[in-house]
Amino acid sequence: MSTHTLHFQPRQARAQRTRLARLGDMMARQRGRIALLQWAIVGLYFVLVAAPAFLPMPPEEARMFNSLTRFAQFAFWGIWWPFVIASMLLVGRFWCGVMCPEGALTEFAGRPGKGRPIPRWMRWPGWPLVGFLGTTLYGQLISVYEYPGPVLVILGGSTVAAVAVGIVYGRGKRVWCRYLCPVTGVFALLARLAPLHFKVDRTAWDMQPANTPAVDCPPLLNVSALASASQCHACGRCSGHRDAVALRWRWPGSEIVRSQSGDVGRYEALLLFYGMLGFALGAFQWTMAPGFVRAKQWVATWLVEHDILWPLADNAPWWVLTHYPQASDVFSWLDGAGIVAWLVASALLVGGCAHLATVLAARLARADWKVLALGLVPMAAANLFLGLSMLTLTQLRSEGIEFGWLPQARVALLLLAWLAGIALGVGQLRRMDVRGLRAAAAAVLLAGAAALPALLWVRTLDLLRAF
Ligand code: SF4
Repeated sequence: MSTHTLHFQPRQARAQRTRLARLGDMMARQRGRIALLQWAIVGLYFVLVAAPAFLPMPPEEARMFNSLTRFAQFAFWGIWWPFVIASMLLVGRFWCGVMCPEGALTEFAGRPGKGRPIPRWMRWPGWPLVGFLGTTLYGQLISVYEYPGPVLVILGGSTVAAVAVGIVYGRGKRVWCRYLCPVTGVFALLARLAPLHFKVDRTAWDMQPANTPAVDCPPLLNVSALASASQCHACGRCSGHRDAVALRWRWPGSEIVRSQSGDVGRYEALLLFYGMLGFALGAFQWTMAPGFVRAKQWVATWLVEHDILWPLADNAPWWVLTHYPQASDVFSWLDGAGIVAWLVASALLVGGCAHLATVLAARLARADWKVLALGLVPMAAANLFLGLSMLTLTQLRSEGIEFGWLPQARVALLLLAWLAGIALGVGQLRRMDVRGLRAAAAAVLLAGAAALPALLWVRTLDLLRAF
């Protein structure tokens, strides 16, 4: 190929860039403006996380429009989190790359330092699972959705850790986000469904001189080999690089259908089964579960009969177990143990059943169970969105805002997630060329794996009464 061709093709490629690709290029050019937006969000984040913890507890009748504490509660748990989850499904990890205050802070904190080499222990792929389970459990024990002190401990603690990791290991990159953030594993799974992604054209990439400067990729990705949206923060910095990277549309879920053995790790699949499905379901539902109250009463009676009274004491500090006597909200050690047991049991029941059904389906299809597990991403997303939006709706109800169509919308969401999961599973089986009875039986097992969490939601929220 002549030198002329080498120089002509990239210019031609630039001219042919779609409107979407040009939007990505604009993100690469507007780094200063994106940084301003990030600092504005950092400021808002500090006000919402820190200020309410130093204010007196609002009275019972306080509302989000006249109490910063109530407003912050609604902003965080009612809007911020449910819509961050929803955004992952639509635009991938755009939130991480462009809006996350923790990501911006860890990157900024690491800029001046040389940064130590990232230690081996930090690269252990199980941290996202441990981080998600740990923060979910701790959040339930100290009632993070209800009170500002626990928000400061959990979110503020995570931010302090992110900054510390940035200072010690960062070198201006997002080491924290890549390896240790408690929600990075969840976001990495959800982003695989997104219809928007940055795509690398390897042919165009290879046509450029080898000494082209490397792209400044915050989560330390090898951009030339970018094949998944899971770890890409969609920050846009690589858009147009070597005339080979562009923001593109794809079919939602197409990455999951195309996934092969090696594209998904064991801990990612375990996070999906036991974390996002089982543990999270337990965390959202234990306060509404009659079985939880019955089991706790039974244990309390047994303890009293055997004269073992210390587990009934409520003397734990608020940062160990919920302790707000002024709001008549105090957990005993038995309450704490009950929550731990309920969440673990929920993870084992829901996650274990889904895991078993997926492993059996994989045996039938002679496929990798971790790949088939990705078909459960839509149900895991619906689970998280439904649970978090419950808080939104409770808060809106206390403001007198109610939605009559809610039960039908919830059933529709669960049905959509279940059908999407089946479609992904069938798509994967077809791509693997699994046919006939084996394919049908595997598809039934995958449908069953996604059905249990949906049925538990229907039962807990008594959704069928609306029909
Ligand atoms: S590959 Fe890296 S630089 Fe490119 S958009 Fe993703 S996170 Fe940003």
